[in-house]
Amino acid sequence: MEKNGEKDFTSFVQEAGLIWGPSPEIYGGVAGFYTYGPLGKLLKNRVENSVRKTFNESGFREIEGPTVLPNEVWKASGHLDTFQDRTIKCKKCGAVFRADKLIEEGRDISADAFSNDQILRFIKDNKIKCPVCKGNFEEKIEKQSLMLSTVVGGKEASLRPETATGTYLPFIRYYNYFRKKLPFGVFQIGKAYRNEISPRQNVLRGREFTQAEGQIFVDPKEKNNWGPYEKIKDEKLPFWSESEQKSGKFAGKVISVKEALEKKLIKSQAYGWCIWLAYTQFKNFGIPADRIRMRQHHADEKAFYADDAWDIELKLNNYGWTEVCGVHDRTDYDLTQHSKASGVKLEAVRDNGEKFIPHVLEIAFGSDRPTYSLIDIFYEKKTEGEGKTILRVPYHMSPIDVSIFPLMRKDELLKAAEEIVLDLEKSFIVDYDFTGSIGKRYLRSAMQGTPYAVTIDYDSLEDKDVTIRDRDSERQVRVKIDSLREILWGLLKGGKKFEELR
Ligand SMILES: [Zn+2]
Repeated sequence: MEKNGEKDFTSFVQEAGLIWGPSPEIYGGVAGFYTYGPLGKLLKNRVENSVRKTFNESGFREIEGPTVLPNEVWKASGHLDTFQDRTIKCKKCGAVFRADKLIEEGRDISADAFSNDQILRFIKDNKIKCPVCKGNFEEKIEKQSLMLSTVVGGKEASLRPETATGTYLPFIRYYNYFRKKLPFGVFQIGKAYRNEISPRQNVLRGREFTQAEGQIFVDPKEKNNWGPYEKIKDEKLPFWSESEQKSGKFAGKVISVKEALEKKLIKSQAYGWCIWLAYTQFKNFGIPADRIRMRQHHADEKAFYADDAWDIELKLNNYGWTEVCGVHDRTDYDLTQHSKASGVKLEAVRDNGEKFIPHVLEIAFGSDRPTYSLIDIFYEKKTEGEGKTILRVPYHMSPIDVSIFPLMRKDELLKAAEEIVLDLEKSFIVDYDFTGSIGKRYLRSAMQGTPYAVTIDYDSLEDKDVTIRDRDSERQVRVKIDSLREILWGLLKGGKKFEELR
């Protein structure tokens, strides 16, 4: 599916210092592993800090658990026995592929719920050939575990394939920490690992990736008595229900959370609030509303324990609608499983003394996909003129806050510029650039997505003014060096508009 411009995009991602790989490049690379370059890591930090802010503002608390856990945990969670991909092998060259992905690539369908026979029939009917050698596939589906295993202290263990399970295990600790009051929310941002068969699509599908998952522990009897629901029930979201999916394409329709509950698209106020929060997070990243939709899971693709289950999908330029988040009502499945397997009762007590196992509502996503999505959506290449490339990310998400340019590479200008850099670095991410023409530096700054560029010229030495240039309007304003830090703070963090300057 090489699209026009996809090659440009791929080289941009590498050359701008966003994402490199597969890593390690000098040894030929291993599929599914990537290195975030300096610009990419700054962007990913913005994404993760936005997630922290959203969760913290909603009363969640962050924890950090180990990435390696003994296999008895994964046996209890079900991962050891069922966390597998279905694979199919090329008869001619022997290459192995993930069967459902072969079907999905380039088609707007989900093969998750296809039976093995359905997959084989689809491949035959649609004459899908081996992407490597164009050969035919064997007529059988095999399974491969996605768990990466290791041995620790003589015990079989696995690298976690998700952060969620590790978040459930200290339930009793949280219960005490949160003063024995439900509901409470906990989230975790950290690495997880899946031994994918044939990872492609850059960091959208890596073997090592960063998850950001929030879990709310709730009394099942309180799911429809959810305080924060009142405030958000009239918010309109792009719910795309299972029945609408069957009757055609997504039409961009929005309905309120309340309506979704009345129509029984979702089952509880608490779940409605969770899906609203997840949607809000993608708005907080600055993703345009018309690129976000919420897709209900089909009855047959839902995990057997899941009650409500919806995905958030983003419309990407390179890959079309792409899953970026799952919101699940996991009921009491996890705490029940781990109570049974560990012998420790993971339960709570109601005011009347009744004991019960809490339900878990989960908002599961990561930071790689949102980071990639921001690059994909906001990458802009102008073909006319000098072929200017701009990473038009929303200003609050831009990797670098401000570029500083001495007009020429002359000692007195460099000295004045360096003083400004030292001062601004205390509050901002600053890129100091004195190489090449000023025009080239403006282009580079826009390519990095930096909202503002400050130029120090000979007049600056006399009148103590510098020029600030705005990335999107390309307008320029002279301001006092003394007030530069305050002005940038207002623009970047205080909601001030560039047009208000002067
Ligand atoms: Zn082949």
